[in-house]
Amino acid sequence: MANTDNAGRVVKVSGPLVVAENMPAAKMYDVVRVSDQRLIGEIIEVRGDRASIQVYEETGGLGPGEPVYTTGMPLSVELGPGLIESIFDGIQRPLDEIYRQTGPRITRGVEAYALNRTKKWDFVPLLEAGADVEEGDILGTVQETSLVVHKIMVPPGVRGKLTFIHRGEATVTDTIATVEQDGKTVEIQMMQKWPVRRGRPYKEKLAPTEPLVTGQRVIDMFFPVAKGGTAAIPGPFGSGKTVTQHQLAKWADAEIIVYVGCGERGNEMTDVLNEFPELLDPKSGEPLMKRTVLIANTSDMPVAAREASIYTGITIAEYFRDMGYSVALMADSTSRWAEALREISGRLEEMPGEEGYPAYLGSRLAEFYERSGKVVCLGRDGRVGALTAVGAVSPPGGDISEPVSQNTLRIVKVFWGLDASLAYRRHFPAINWLQSYSLYTDSFSDYYREHFGTSWEEYRTEAMRILQEEAELEEIVRLVGQDALSERERLILETARSVREDFLHQNSFHEVDTYASLEKQFRMIKLILHFYHEAQRGVERGARLQEILNLPVREQIARARYLAESDIARMDDIEKAVSEQIAALIGEDTEAQYA
Ligand code: ADP
Repeated sequence: MANTDNAGRVVKVSGPLVVAENMPAAKMYDVVRVSDQRLIGEIIEVRGDRASIQVYEETGGLGPGEPVYTTGMPLSVELGPGLIESIFDGIQRPLDEIYRQTGPRITRGVEAYALNRTKKWDFVPLLEAGADVEEGDILGTVQETSLVVHKIMVPPGVRGKLTFIHRGEATVTDTIATVEQDGKTVEIQMMQKWPVRRGRPYKEKLAPTEPLVTGQRVIDMFFPVAKGGTAAIPGPFGSGKTVTQHQLAKWADAEIIVYVGCGERGNEMTDVLNEFPELLDPKSGEPLMKRTVLIANTSDMPVAAREASIYTGITIAEYFRDMGYSVALMADSTSRWAEALREISGRLEEMPGEEGYPAYLGSRLAEFYERSGKVVCLGRDGRVGALTAVGAVSPPGGDISEPVSQNTLRIVKVFWGLDASLAYRRHFPAINWLQSYSLYTDSFSDYYREHFGTSWEEYRTEAMRILQEEAELEEIVRLVGQDALSERERLILETARSVREDFLHQNSFHEVDTYASLEKQFRMIKLILHFYHEAQRGVERGARLQEILNLPVREQIARARYLAESDIARMDDIEKAVSEQIAALIGEDTEAQYA
């Protein structure tokens, strides 16, 4: 421990904020240790030799005069094998290790390495001594869990000739390679450290041209998010936010899941900590944790740790992106994070902006979301990784006109508007199709055209138009009653209902319905619209709408969602049945058509 003579001195304690003097060497974002209990803190304001420090632990009992030691290092995370399956707090302390040391209430000044120092991993080299390497090159791999191959990369800033490479068991701090760089030997360990507030480097950011397929129809068809994109989801209580997040974690086309939880009430986080480890990865049948990193802030943890947690989370996510993986990060909820920011800003006596949030709320949120993206990773193999960021917001009273929601919506490209009234009517996922949006759909045009011709976009546009028309017609019905509607309008209402009930509604708990491939989604919407067009034709040729609506084929349309992926071609037969049954109503001969 440093000599107290050259330590700073606490002059003021205000909740999580501590002000210290005699800190001439203080640098912004350096980590400090406060008092002899060595509480962990971070410098967030420097004025002369006076530093304001946000402390990540309880400051009760702390008073003026106590020493403050700077470490001269920014708040950093440890990156390497052992991340997956871990549950960390906001500053990457492993919760199980802390609980083991202190019991369920974290006592102060606990030190625990984020990554286990004694565990041996089987390092399989991919390169041989003598090779030229540069930053990001993959030196070798470790089978971290049954689902994740951890790629050990040359750390940023290192390049030269590989002079040694290890094979076999090693801990994260053992030297597994040496590189001759400018006449010096650089030792490389499996573990890297990276400051959380700085984005990890990559070669090039790519345009988001490919959807992150989630298997959730309302998302993929109507409000898709890009691989490497950003989305926000508000979470009124009981609206299905948890189920939606679980579905994304299980089914989204991402190899790695990073979940950052900032709970308000203690039990919210306990739910996450209990539920996530129970989830199974549908593709492998293994626990989903085998490709997940959890970061949890329970309410009994100080607010400053919440502020840090989303940076801890996104840095870990970037690290797996750098390996060339598709990573999905979920932050729940960013409102709790913003409240932490507000509390600390208040204690710094900064000029408050809207509703007391600091004026830099928007730029902080932007900095966070900007770390998402699809990138060409460092390293010479040209691999591409993606980090998709989904942030939940929990506006008080569900009113999204408040600053956190508004600032978030200015940044993210997708908004999934969960709607309590839909949930109340048991329409799940309760994503409101009239309020939600995705700004990516145009950038996916080439992707859709490659897989589905121009039809994907045409069907989406038409189905959406029908849903919008339904909303307008419902207004009329409310004013003057159902009888005022023409047959054409009634058909619109029936079709809209079919889009809602047979397509948008999706039961996460049904073995088959829980996931739909894009191909299946495409065929389902095509079938519904085919019925609509045929029904229109039938009405024009004199059939009664009610007769058309009573056709037995409608039941088959409603059940198409339960067709297994291997059976989706049967939807062609249902389409044919639609045409035949309507033709029969109007006395047409379909034999000629389908001969
Ligand atoms: P929240 O996290 O917003 O409070 P939950 O995600 O726990 O809400 O959802 C509340 C309930 O709604 C769930 O227990 C479940 O019964 C139902 N539910 C939500 N989404 C779906 C879905 N996609 N399919 C079926 N049921 C759902």
